[in-house]
Amino acid sequence: MTTIYAFANQKGGVGKTTTAVNLAAFLALRDASVLLVDLDPQGNATSSLGVERFALSHSIYQSLINHVPVNGIILPTKISKLALAPSTAPLAAAEVELASIPDREHLLSEKLRDVSAGYDYIFVDCPPSLGLLTVNALTAADRVILPVQCEYLALEGLAQLMHTLALVQENLNPRLQLFGLVMTMYDSRMRLAQQVVEEVKKHFPDQVFQTLIPRSVRVAEAPGFGEPLATFDPYSRGAQAYAQLAQEFLEREQKQTAERAARIADEEQPSVMSHMPYAVGEASEVL
Ligand code: ATP
Ligand code: MG
Repeated sequence: MTTIYAFANQKGGVGKTTTAVNLAAFLALRDASVLLVDLDPQGNATSSLGVERFALSHSIYQSLINHVPVNGIILPTKISKLALAPSTAPLAAAEVELASIPDREHLLSEKLRDVSAGYDYIFVDCPPSLGLLTVNALTAADRVILPVQCEYLALEGLAQLMHTLALVQENLNPRLQLFGLVMTMYDSRMRLAQQVVEEVKKHFPDQVFQTLIPRSVRVAEAPGFGEPLATFDPYSRGAQAYAQLAQEFLEREQKQTAERAARIADEEQPSVMSHMPYAVGEASEVL
């Protein structure tokens, strides 16, 4: 059975794509079959995996809007167990085009149903907004991972994001769970970075992954070569951090799956609101 993970944060440039691509790659190298869905019109996940997006005739856009089956757009990558549902520029128009389609929030969920049996994991890389594309990702997802950059005002916007998660859970997708926050671009030499991690942990005590992703030039260089860190430079600090994150991901998954089974047995619905940080907006002001 597949589990769908959305990588979301309406803040731009916080490491959503880098985390989705590299976690997917390490899991695939550990023998999980993974489909990475690039749901961002910028197509960074597509380019990061070495796919020349301007040469593509089909992408996730055609699946959402023109009813092309997702199976018909999936591409292989250099990592055999990692497949890609690419994004092309027309996806930028999808937000507007989706608006007039009935049941527009469930489109991605429906389309992914056809392929879900073929993968252990489906990762959806979201654009930096809380528009219809991200809502589609959250409606399709079982779990959401929030990459958070270790920088000033990191918490800003997280309250709004948590509110959106709660709304989606309440109205569109009761399965949705917050799986964890990944602290990215961590610079151990900067006190600010350590303070940000502490502050985020205060608000999300059980959700922040222990693995901190270091700020590193190799991480930023890999997409330009169209390769995940796992093959581009497997011994780099960044690669090792993402390998460690993959390990932590698997351990957390096992734990949450067991907890969820126990909750279902008790017929109790978890709420994403229980992870809502108290007065997160105010906290960001004191950072
Ligand atoms: P967007 O919101 O535009 O989709 P994003 O949240 O997906 O952005 P990324 O594209 O993953 O963020 O990262 C933003 C930029 O920071 C990219 O140029 C990426 O290569 C770089 N970057 C990401 N993580 C690191 C890191 N750990 N060290 C150095 N650079 C990084
Ligand atoms: Mg991105």
